[in-house]
Amino acid sequence: MSPLPISAPPRQPESASGYMLRVLSLNGAHVKEAMAYCRTARSMRPLASDAELFAELTGVPVAWFHNRLPAPHTRDRWREVDLFGRRWRSAWLLRDLHQQVCPVCLREQGIARLEWDLMAYPACHIHKVLLQDMCWSCGRAISPRRPSLEVCNCGGFIAAATGETAAIDPALQAWVAWLSMQLLTDCSAPQPTDLERIAPQVRGLSPDGAFRLIYSFAGGGKAFCGEQMLGGKTWLSSAQMAGLLRDGLAALQAPARGVLLPTKAGTPSALAEQAEAGVTAWDRAVAAREVRRLKLGRRWRNAVPRCPQQQELFEDSL
Ligand SMILES: [Zn+2]
Ligand SMILES: [Zn+2]
Repeated sequence: MSPLPISAPPRQPESASGYMLRVLSLNGAHVKEAMAYCRTARSMRPLASDAELFAELTGVPVAWFHNRLPAPHTRDRWREVDLFGRRWRSAWLLRDLHQQVCPVCLREQGIARLEWDLMAYPACHIHKVLLQDMCWSCGRAISPRRPSLEVCNCGGFIAAATGETAAIDPALQAWVAWLSMQLLTDCSAPQPTDLERIAPQVRGLSPDGAFRLIYSFAGGGKAFCGEQMLGGKTWLSSAQMAGLLRDGLAALQAPARGVLLPTKAGTPSALAEQAEAGVTAWDRAVAAREVRRLKLGRRWRNAVPRCPQQQELFEDSL
């Protein structure tokens, strides 16, 4: 396949899907046309297996796309995804077809940041505002197959400053800043962050493990499904996700303040599941420790940590 006539280098914090939208619209091509060439076109989601094709089209090294496109696989009966050089449990953590943007970043930088691809990142750590996940003109979800980065399928300008941008509280700010740092900086030198002061339990956890710990304390899958149904949507909005993270972080901070909040209905099963299936040995150990600290019943304590390979105990990331 011949490369696109106009090339543009990707920026360091740019997401693969955002970059493809940007470079294709520069060339007057629609993302639907490009996706038609992809092997996974039927599932509508670009995957790491499409990295070579995108590299050929754009002239960008294939490793750049490999790092930024999800590579789903199954490990020991659990479905996992490799993305951003990290391992994640199950693909629902990715926003996929329901994208979100920081309108201020979009106006200032003209690129989509890679953190926006994650459900766990519902607010911008730079501008400290909630991300926008619908078009102000038509009220629909922001599609990855829109004509260009800033323009919705309805023709409306996504980053138009007509909608309100809600400010976020300090705990959520600390969470999104921590998550961004895990994805974009070299983490070989541990740095103390605000999040670790608020919730010391997250120290040493993988980004997926930290998110799942907070999510467990917010009520686990039960809370998430409830929010989804109450919202009448097939997907959690950025605002709903921000609310759940806020609840989870408040519950995680409670022991440090000497308060004991009542455990939410879904917390024991979510923690036990994480103790069994967390993506790193440390993720599983911390969840198991929380199960003991909350004095949950034998039924939950009996979850056996999953260690298919002893070697895994010595890895902390990919
Ligand atoms: Zn921003
Ligand atoms: Zn629209």
